[in-house]
Amino acid sequence: MKTMARSSSILPRGGDWRHTRVGVLGLGRSGLAAVEMLLNRECHLVLFDDREARIPGSLDERLRAGTYSIWTGQSTAGMQAVKDLDALIVSPGVPSGHPILNAAERIGIPVWSELELAARQIEGPMVLVTGTNGKSTTVSLIHHLLQSAGRPSLLAGNIGTALSSVVDQANEETVVVVEASSFQLERVDTLHPFVAVLLNIAPDHLNRYATMEDYAEAKRRMLENSTEKDYFVFPAGDPMVERWSAVCSSCKLSFQASEKPTGEGGTSLENGWLVQCSGGRAERVLPASALPLLGRHNLLNALAALAALIPFDLSTETLAAGLRSFQGLPHRMEPAGEVDGVLYVNDSKATNVHAALAALEGLTGPIVLLLGGQGKGEDYSPLRESMGTVRAAICYGDEAAVLEEALQGAVELHPASSMEAALDLAHGLASGGDTVLLSPACTSYDEFNSFEERGDAFKAMVSGWKGGAR
Ligand code: ADP
Repeated sequence: MKTMARSSSILPRGGDWRHTRVGVLGLGRSGLAAVEMLLNRECHLVLFDDREARIPGSLDERLRAGTYSIWTGQSTAGMQAVKDLDALIVSPGVPSGHPILNAAERIGIPVWSELELAARQIEGPMVLVTGTNGKSTTVSLIHHLLQSAGRPSLLAGNIGTALSSVVDQANEETVVVVEASSFQLERVDTLHPFVAVLLNIAPDHLNRYATMEDYAEAKRRMLENSTEKDYFVFPAGDPMVERWSAVCSSCKLSFQASEKPTGEGGTSLENGWLVQCSGGRAERVLPASALPLLGRHNLLNALAALAALIPFDLSTETLAAGLRSFQGLPHRMEPAGEVDGVLYVNDSKATNVHAALAALEGLTGPIVLLLGGQGKGEDYSPLRESMGTVRAAICYGDEAAVLEEALQGAVELHPASSMEAALDLAHGLASGGDTVLLSPACTSYDEFNSFEERGDAFKAMVSGWKGGAR
């Protein structure tokens, strides 16, 4: 109860922050963005990181000009500093048992994610997108469609630019489109999106959450402050999400990639067209065949984006033109080139089984599939059902043996030590008309710093072959 009192009286939404003392735990990208935004509001800052933080020069200079203290490691003095805070901002990577976090919670200091902090500064409409897969693609598409329609829009959150970095550019007219991970949604309080979008929920991050229910619960928090003036966009037919929808007061907008009417409102297919339905009126937007993105999952993402834009009343002509001109994002079902009649597809961003299944569903085959990297404790057996179009699966990296065991008997299997060795092997195994697909169902951290680096390494090898290097 103390938490609620402090959070609403000392740190109101917007308001004067000058006499507040705010702690930031974890000085990574979003932590530093929060620091910068708080500096603009002349707060007293107390910074915490377990390691020596790399603070960029310009920010360091600004910090020195104000009042701040920094605690590295988990010292007693650092723990003492917690008790004078008005709020503590926690970065998504900080584990829930962290001593600074525990201390703040014990004393009753409001603990927020950077998303909550930044969202308090936003006055205009926010479109918030969460889900296991498709977030980056969908927020980019929503932003692109708004911009194509001439609506001022900012893109932020998990997609790259922290929300704290853009709030000072937004005014009441600006639509702020936010990609939110479940980690950022774990610690929200007043967060109140105008449009809240849930794309899908499948097992992921089970190394962080004890159960699927805990993971889903984090995502549900985006609806906590919703009213009948807000909108909830969700996939039709998912029983768990339908339950959420029944108890939230927002207007409901569902999306589905099937030929069915949408009920209360939302999007679906009608004779092969993407259709928007609201106020009992259905309007055709674009034939699904004209969507310039690979895979049924991207059709779902496009339908979710169109549903999220219903409250903004954009013309179907503008929406259709925007959909046609959307380029898609790198490392998500990205065609990397064709060599000797074999198509190479980079889906390095597929770091869980749900994404790899979506990739397989979206291609007709025959496929030579690259699976591997570092695992997140997921069960790979659902992949067995989707091996019908797969000529061979090459399992590589730290997770190779676990993947091979899960797929034994379902498909021809080959081991490889690294992603590049796997790609080399795939190059030998594939013949004209095949697709070599990197959709690894694992993270890249055993070999690379990021999924981008892994995808770039894949594309570089394919480009080398295209250039004649063997
Ligand atoms: P996120 O930001 O949620 O990780 P991305 O748009 O970056 O989502 O896509 C991540 C991975 O999931 C990619 O491999 C992509 O091909 C796949 N994907 C995208 N949309 C969906 C979806 N609706 N369902 C399942 N997989 C998807």
